[in-house]
Amino acid sequence: MAGVSTKTCKSCRRLGMSVCGRLNCAFKRKPYPPGVHGKSRSRGLSEFGTQLREKQKLKLSYGLRERQFKNYLFSAIKQKAMNTAEAVLYYLESRLDNFVFKMGLASTRSAARQIVNHGHILVNGKKITIPSYRVKVGDEISIRNESRARGVFKDLTSTLKKHEPPVWISLDKEKIVGRVISVPQNEALKSVYNINAIVEYYLR
Ligand code: ZN
Repeated sequence: MAGVSTKTCKSCRRLGMSVCGRLNCAFKRKPYPPGVHGKSRSRGLSEFGTQLREKQKLKLSYGLRERQFKNYLFSAIKQKAMNTAEAVLYYLESRLDNFVFKMGLASTRSAARQIVNHGHILVNGKKITIPSYRVKVGDEISIRNESRARGVFKDLTSTLKKHEPPVWISLDKEKIVGRVISVPQNEALKSVYNINAIVEYYLR
């Protein structure tokens, strides 16, 4: 994932949140900043420091590069249909790689991105290899027939049994088909990410 040190999870620990998405994220064992003074380091951040940290949290969680992320932010600021925070989360959550991750086809967003890049995913029966592809209400996401036997999907039927997709995704666990049944519902995410601080960062 862009910019994330996945071995030691330094980014996760510095940001005070697991942004790598891995079950064995080091932040869960060491929930304090890296380095010898990590445990004692004061969390008092300047306003700019807070804005920057919030931006990094969101950007790295979705594994985006600065330019891509900035484009989403400014598109969200410019549009008038939703409030800005809702629009930011809508753009991020509607990405095909995020859908594949939330549908339960991959354990991390970066693994989901690879699956899309490698041509394993169909949207409405058509192969789509663009991770940023925006899914819409009614879209049906599935695994290409030729790809179903691949190693990455080997344990899928058993892992999906335990997987609970978010309410805006309906999932047929037998056929392994996901459908977008509403726009992404992001109320929970709004309390995790301080989107207003991120907007302020870009408008400063
Ligand atoms: Zn981590």
